[in-house]
Amino acid sequence: MSDADEVDYRVAVTGTPGTGKTSATTLLDGPVIHLNELIREAGLWSERDADRDSLVADLDAVRESLGDWSGVVESHLAHHLDADRVVVLRCRPDVLEDRLRDRGADETKATENAESEALDVILSEAVDRHGLERVYEIDTTDRTPADVAEAIEAVVAGDREPSA
Ligand code: ADP
Ligand code: MN
Repeated sequence: MSDADEVDYRVAVTGTPGTGKTSATTLLDGPVIHLNELIREAGLWSERDADRDSLVADLDAVRESLGDWSGVVESHLAHHLDADRVVVLRCRPDVLEDRLRDRGADETKATENAESEALDVILSEAVDRHGLERVYEIDTTDRTPADVAEAIEAVVAGDREPSA
């Protein structure tokens, strides 16, 4: 994508780890920022969570680094950004747990994320920040990444009603 391909929408794609954000957004036509990659590569984190073997992102540094972004941003943190629309990818918790195990996540992480998905943690954070009218849930349980990408394209194009 060159600068000439700048677009006029900002869509955040979020969801519990394992819901398939990276797999689906990689298939989109328009520009995509894979935020977790950027956080690692640009060092936009403030501490290491030793228990979880993960980095705690510095959201102010992330916002500053993104500046006037456009297109799609995907990450389990994407709903913490300003956006026109927020897509929340969902997955049945037991299926999510299997996906995470298959990906090589340890047992604690797989269980923790499945519980977080069952409790709608990211969905409620997204609705709190952006309001129901900007939030679009997409169930990925029985869908291929290509199907999910198509559903995201429909949100980007304004062809889909919010979950509300
Ligand atoms: P996220 O970016 O949301 O953490 P990934 O795209 O990395 O999720 O996918 C997590 C795991 O689940 C990967 O092993 C991936 O191959 C698998 N996966 C992703 N999307 C789907 C899907 N729609 N159906 C089945 N498995 C999927
Ligand atoms: Mn990912």
